[in-house]
Amino acid sequence: MRALVVGGGIAGPATALALHQVGIEAVVLEAWPRSDGTVGSWFTLAPNGLHALDLLGARHLATRSGFPSDRNVMVGASGRVLGSMSLGVPLDDGTVALTMRRSWLAAALVGEAEQRGIDVRHESRVVAVTSWSDGVTVTLQDGSRLSGDLLVGADGVRSMVRGVVDPGAAPARYVGLTNFGGITDRTPMAAALPARQWHFVFGSRAFFGAHPTPDGDVVWFVNVPGPAITSAERVARTPEQWRDWLVELLAADTGPGADIVRAGRLELWADNTHDLPRVARWSRERMVLVGDAAHAPSPSSGQGAALALEDAVVLATCLRDAGTVQEALTAYDSARRGRVERIVAAGARSSSSKIPGRAGRAIRDVLMRLVFRFVVTDRSSAWVTGHRVRWEPDQQPARRAGS
Ligand SMILES: Cc1cc2nc3c(=O)[nH]c(=O)nc-3n(C[C@H](O)[C@H](O)[C@H](O)COP(=O)(O)OP(=O)(O)OC[C@H]3O[C@@H](n4cnc5c(N)ncnc54)[C@H](O)[C@@H]3O)c2cc1C
Repeated sequence: MRALVVGGGIAGPATALALHQVGIEAVVLEAWPRSDGTVGSWFTLAPNGLHALDLLGARHLATRSGFPSDRNVMVGASGRVLGSMSLGVPLDDGTVALTMRRSWLAAALVGEAEQRGIDVRHESRVVAVTSWSDGVTVTLQDGSRLSGDLLVGADGVRSMVRGVVDPGAAPARYVGLTNFGGITDRTPMAAALPARQWHFVFGSRAFFGAHPTPDGDVVWFVNVPGPAITSAERVARTPEQWRDWLVELLAADTGPGADIVRAGRLELWADNTHDLPRVARWSRERMVLVGDAAHAPSPSSGQGAALALEDAVVLATCLRDAGTVQEALTAYDSARRGRVERIVAAGARSSSSKIPGRAGRAIRDVLMRLVFRFVVTDRSSAWVTGHRVRWEPDQQPARRAGS
């Protein structure tokens, strides 16, 4: 069987590795030129995602580039601690989570796929898909065509494949926050922040997050509540002007946020945050969706990449174990849908909690302290980060799908 995988982000190369592991040939088609992974935003890979990477024999990629993150500490605008939570149920060796650039992990997964002999093609934007009962053909932007037995849509939250699989699917939803991210190099402020922790501030005008790196830098982000920023508005200010605006928004809050941002440089700015709550169909004929193309949780969930890695393993095991491709795709949907939709819903609640309501600062702080004491706790979120996908079949395997 030959699978065409559209997208060379996280889900695409991970799915190609998983398919390769169960004996299915994969070709990865990525729209953009090859990247060295040194740009863009930072993210934290939760233990459930690290475990899935481990099953793909690729956890070393995250360990090589990531630094350990164990806890989130939440602080109010007045500097008062509202709560503290583990970043997840640790793996057997005690690792909790790793923070790294998203683009680095994507580039490393692509490199790993190539090393294992998987064909990865950059500058190969898929512009059309034709599917029938036992095959697919894609058309690339340069007019060339490629055929396969299965198409995996791993083309992210704005997926074009999703439009073919489920033409009625609603587009991604703006969650009411714009995102800015940056880094402050070699700063003494790094030593003032506890190591291996995200420091989060529920500020009066914006939500701020910062994490010291082992090299003495601070990586940080700011979520600003408000309407989506248009492309014209985005380019109307330089990155330095956007940064000055963030400093203004953070200035009223106690803590180092404004100073860290003032001394840093923006790497991501005016990025409207979206989620994708429910796509009724994840598969049709010989096409299937994985990762953000199927279910994008808001970044506040800290789970998008982890879920994409879980998808990769589960889809490959379903194709390995089911009698037919159709049965495999149905089994994949039933194995994944409940979990991911619940996480997307939790991510949406988490995004809303970053938007200051009409309650004053003090009331908000009291409410948040209660939330972190009784509602959002290590125990209540263990089902998210303590989940472990498996290679072993749940039942005895039938013959390989499509064979
Ligand atoms: C600011 C921010 C912070 C985040 N923080 C976290 C976090 O802390 N933890 C976490 O687990 N997740 C986090 N996420 C979510 C995570 O980044 C995504 O869930 C993850 O990248 C999804 O992987 P994907 O491969 O499905 O999609 P993507 O990473 O978006 O990759 C899709 C790929 O498909 C390619 N593509 C698109 N269309 C085509 C086409 N027509 N033809 C060929 N190629 C195409 C794109 O160029 C891209 O490379 C965050 C997201 C954001 C925006």
